[in-house]
Order: sequence, then C-alpha cells, then structure tokens
Amino acid sequence: MPPKKRIGDIMIDQGLITQEQLDIAILEQKKSGELLGSVLFSLGFISQKDLFKLLTISSASQEESELNKYNAAIPQEIENLVKQSSSLFQRDGSVGKKELDSAHSPLVNLVEKIIIDGIQRTATDIHINPDVKGVRIRYRVDGVLQHSMFLPTELLNPIVSRFKIMGQMNIAESRIPQDGSAEFPYKNRKLDLRISTFPILGGENIVIRVLDKGQLRIGLENLGFFEEDIEKLNASIQLPFGMILVTGPTGSGKTTTLYSCLSIINTVSRNIITLEDPVEYQLPLARQCQVNVKAGLTFASGLKSILRQDPDVILVGEMRDAETAELAIRASLTGHLVFSTIHTNDAISTIARIIDIGIDPFLISTTIDSIIAQRLVRSLCEECKEPVPPFSPNYAKLGMDPSNSTLYRAKGCSACDNSGFKGRNVIYEILKITPKIREMINTRASLEDIRIHAITEGFREMHLIALEKVRLGITTLDEVSHATRMTF
Ligand SMILES: [Zn+2]
Repeated sequence: MPPKKRIGDIMIDQGLITQEQLDIAILEQKKSGELLGSVLFSLGFISQKDLFKLLTISSASQEESELNKYNAAIPQEIENLVKQSSSLFQRDGSVGKKELDSAHSPLVNLVEKIIIDGIQRTATDIHINPDVKGVRIRYRVDGVLQHSMFLPTELLNPIVSRFKIMGQMNIAESRIPQDGSAEFPYKNRKLDLRISTFPILGGENIVIRVLDKGQLRIGLENLGFFEEDIEKLNASIQLPFGMILVTGPTGSGKTTTLYSCLSIINTVSRNIITLEDPVEYQLPLARQCQVNVKAGLTFASGLKSILRQDPDVILVGEMRDAETAELAIRASLTGHLVFSTIHTNDAISTIARIIDIGIDPFLISTTIDSIIAQRLVRSLCEECKEPVPPFSPNYAKLGMDPSNSTLYRAKGCSACDNSGFKGRNVIYEILKITPKIREMINTRASLEDIRIHAITEGFREMHLIALEKVRLGITTLDEVSHATRMTF
C-alpha cells in the first residue's frame, strides 16, 4: 500500500476526516498531483491545525507515529476527563443527574470517548469490567479481546449509571441483569449500541455490542469466498424457492454472508423480508423486522405474519426451535426462497441437527439447496507480514517447497496495533444437496457416508479451504488451528 493512503487511514482513525472525504481527496489528488494534505486543506476538509498535525504524522518514524497514534487515541484526553470526573462524585459513588446527563459533564464525555475509541479500533464489543484494583476497559477487535485502559474504582458506578441512562435502563436496579440499546451518532452516521449489564462480585459488568450498519462490508468476495464457490453460490441464490442455510458459532460472520447473498438478488422486482435479532445491517429495498420477544414477536410468530406479506425471499435470523424450523421449511416448500442460520459445527452435521429438532428427512432433502458452514480467521496485516524461515516444518506440513514458495507469519506494526493481523477472512465449506445426497438423506444414510460421497461430488471440507488460505499468505497455520480446533 502506498504511504499516502496510510496517512489517510491514520487521519480517519483520528477522526480528522471521513472515508468519503478521503476518497474525494484521492480522486482530486490524482488530477492535480498535489500532496494529499494540501488537497484536503484546499477542499476545506481539514483546518490548518490538522494540516500541521498531518505533517507531524507523516514525517515521524514508524515508532514515533505509533506512539502519537496511541497517545492521541486515549491517554492524555481521557486522563484529564478521569481527573475531572473523579472529583465530582461522592465517596459512595453516587452522582447527580446533571453529571449523568449533561453534554458538558466530564463523565458524559469520558463515556463517549470510551465508545469512540472502540469504534475507531473497529471493536465489535466494548467490555467494562470491575476489577479488584479498578475498572478495566477492553475492546474485542477481529475476534480477540484487547486491553485498553484501567480506570479508578470510584468511576465504576458513575460509568454504569451513564450507560444505563443511555440504554434507558433502570438506574436504581443493580442486582439483576438488564438489557438496553442506544443510538450513537458518529461521523455522519448512527451506530446501534446494545448494552448489557450483569451483576458480578465487585459491581456491575457491562458489555456493549457495537453495531455499525453503515460500515459492514458486504460482498462474498470481500468476505474471502473463492471465485469458483461464489459462482456456485450465485446459482443457488437465483433459485425461485428452496432454502440456503449458513451455520457456525456466534461471531463466525454468518450474518454478513447472508446479507451478501441477499444483496445479490435485492431488486425492486423481489419482495425481501427479514426477521432478525438484532437487525445488524440496513439493506436498501428490503423490509427488515426486529424480533421482540418481550412484546410477543418471536421468530415463529413473526414468520407466520411474514407469509401473509406476499414475500419472495425471506431471511429468518435463526432457526432456534422446532416451530421456527418447521415454518421456515414449509415456507420454502410453498414457493419462497428462504435463508436462515442454525448453530452447528459443520455442513454435514446440520442435516442431523435438523432431523433432531423433529423435521422429517424428506422435507429437509426436498427444500435445502445448500448448507454453508463457516468461521472467521484473522488476516495477516499486509503492511508487516514476514516470510517464515525456510527451515520451518510448516512448509512440509503444507506440502510446500521453501525454495519456490513462501509462507508468512505475523509481526506487528502501527497499521495493525502491533497484533500482526488486520481484518478477518472467512474459511468455509459448502454442501450442495445433489440428487444423490437427497436420496441418501431420505434413506437415512450415515453422516459419514454422506460426507464420503459428497467429497466425490466436489465437496471441499473447511480445513482444506483454510490450508489453502495459509498457502496463499492470507492467514497463518495457528489461526486456522485455533478456528477449526484441528492440529496440522
Ligand atoms: Zn501490521
């Protein structure tokens, strides 16, 4: 990646400009050939002060810029807020309404900074953990929890109270778990925060799930599906009816895959209705509905109503129970294309899981077209990944010759917060229910027999696709072992 782009990214990280502004500036820069900073300044996207800041970033050595980035990201600003906030509260941690809800209150600013810091690091979850010596703030980035900072204990209750106010939860109740949600404005867009409190020893633990509907990068290619598999999936997605299932544990990118599939067929001529918990991404043209169990809108009851809304394509967030599974399968039998997810480890065992729920094998074999099982692995940072030395046994494990091929390993740099990884990539397997497999399901063939036969028809198991990605330098053997729980 050219250095100019990197400076742009740093500026986005620091909240100086937006991605859209950077895109415009890069286009302008191509025309004028001027430095990116000058273009941004002349477009009015940054002030003179920002321009100086930018010059400092671009002239600093890598280590210095890393330090700058870290310092700019939290400590000084938050440290000041912590000092101001701490002096506001009584010894028992009680705090006035003004401190909790005023835009000028240091506490409100502190909580905002904690959230923004998480958003800038692309965290999917923000953890606020009461600890013996203080309050630990951690962020889940690319599936891994990262320690961010440690705050004084007296700030715990005020922070908890602030989050409860944001989530419209009961501020006086601290003995039972609570759930709430809030909209958080950030750079011309609104993020959804799902706030969950949980009483533990030492106080209330808070986890905030950050849903950034505008930032989810959909597209099967972006996720990391191979070209040949995208072609096969495309054919299935174009079917007028039937069912496509995506399976995998929580956080395996199932929703992104489903949205990517839907976006391919999302045209005015089709009525797409979704039923989700929660709605994670806004799909233009589609009608999206949020499950609300408290109000009696469950997957099953919602699905019954959707069928009266003349749908062509239905997305059911999850088939958790027999009733939902039965309704979804009936819907796909009656001329609808149905997408859904189910919690299983691999594609083949999904068949057994649905039979276990109580669905007739004949219904399963006639409706399901494909089952995609998937996981996410961390992608090596392109800026700093380094070749594995030729004497490493990993070459032999992967059947590679170090004299004419290269394996890569994680190193760490400022672009990847020193983790060596940036972003995630999907590893997967796609089981197509062919006529022969249909027959095997109907005659209750063993899963092992189905697996062996599927392989003869071109089924590539997940670990094979994963190893291919290691050979291609996208990820590492350790990542793949961790995600598939297999040793290689
Ligand atoms: Zn890196």
